[in-house]
Amino acid sequence: MEKKNGTNNLEQNSKILMEIGLHITKNPQFGLVSSGFSLKFKIIQDDVLINNPKIKVADFLQNGGWVIHSDYSTFFGANELPVIDDKGDRRIWCGTSTGKFTVASAYELIRNKFPTLQWTKQVWHPSIHPSISSSVWKIVRRVVPSDDNLKRRKVQLDSRCPFCKNSEETLEHILWYCNFSELIWKRLGRIFNFLNPNSLEDILKLAKTKSPSIKEVWRNASLVTMKELWFLRNKVVYENAAVNQENLKRSIMKMVQDCDCIMKQCMWNSSYDLYVLKFFNLRCRKVKSIQVQEIYFSLPKENQILLCCDGASKGNPGTAGFGFVGRNNNGVVIVAASGGLGTATNFLAEVVAVICAGEWAISNNLFNVIFRSDSNATISTFKSGKLPWIVTTRWNNICSKLHWDFVHSFREINFSADTQAKTGAGLNKGEYIVYTGRPPFLKKIEIPFFPYFRFQ
Ligand SMILES: [Zn+2]
Repeated sequence: MEKKNGTNNLEQNSKILMEIGLHITKNPQFGLVSSGFSLKFKIIQDDVLINNPKIKVADFLQNGGWVIHSDYSTFFGANELPVIDDKGDRRIWCGTSTGKFTVASAYELIRNKFPTLQWTKQVWHPSIHPSISSSVWKIVRRVVPSDDNLKRRKVQLDSRCPFCKNSEETLEHILWYCNFSELIWKRLGRIFNFLNPNSLEDILKLAKTKSPSIKEVWRNASLVTMKELWFLRNKVVYENAAVNQENLKRSIMKMVQDCDCIMKQCMWNSSYDLYVLKFFNLRCRKVKSIQVQEIYFSLPKENQILLCCDGASKGNPGTAGFGFVGRNNNGVVIVAASGGLGTATNFLAEVVAVICAGEWAISNNLFNVIFRSDSNATISTFKSGKLPWIVTTRWNNICSKLHWDFVHSFREINFSADTQAKTGAGLNKGEYIVYTGRPPFLKKIEIPFFPYFRFQ
């Protein structure tokens, strides 16, 4: 963090939870601001602030609960605010969901951000030799002394393509459009049955529908070709080498073969895959077959309640909802609930599902529960106690009353909660519907001792 801006960054990127002493202002950095529930004071209009110039967060608190002043009730409801505990004011860091400060999250908040480039991972892939990756990377970033690049830097020169001696030399011409290069690409394309590419994007698109192993060989062979074309151009320009198609083809083949041991993806059991691998003299790859796993749903023990929880979001983050289904040891559905969250991450939706299920159990005097979730990340979050700060107090309240355990289940046997969660994603933010018993639209529920199948 920059030293002179240190304090400012801390103020800008942290919120004070229950900042009781402060006035409510339009400035979003003070007050009750949560990322998940997007309560932002900046949406409050000027006239509301003018009418209540001295209002403080403390004015919203009565007997340990929220009471929203009427002027503010159109902006947010009490149920959107964090649950109050008696631990006093504390600072919440906005860079992490837990509210705890980390250096990494601070760096992430203040660093300059640029759009993510899709091609870099492909070019710097472990299945490509680093010498090829670095050459292709330079070519794509145009850090090469092609004539058009030199002209752009105001170098006066007569330009002629060293291969065909017919056109001016540009990087594009050398790589894609020269007759000589087109022939090389055609010979390569014939092996894969691909058309000639005209850019790196084309290269990355061409093998989209092929097996992982073919994708890998194509990526390798085409990037090697780019590099070899550029290196040949240099040899012709600086060493007066001869332009020879056969030599170029041989060195491309050899470089691909040299990468055989670092290409590890599976092939498909098809004659096309075999033909391509044989052509480059590469060894056969493993063929991946689909594994079918038989899985079973189980009910809780006597006096225990099973709460199947799930979250759903259309996009991540996107319009999100949560749902849970409660079953007793006889398999009877005793509750099914759905809630809408507005815009939230899928992870938060999964977490809120468990919180709401726990709170439902307590309010119905059921104190021995098993939470079932298909998200390992959610389960380890609860087990480690590193929860998003917005739900920490609610979870602590649950823990003080409830005897709980978590069980992970595959989504193939967590579909009733999934249905509820998807229904929740269709609800408005803050809307929460609880059905006692099985709702009519919940057509399918998990049956114990019945085999379900999981395809991997
Ligand atoms: Zn040319």
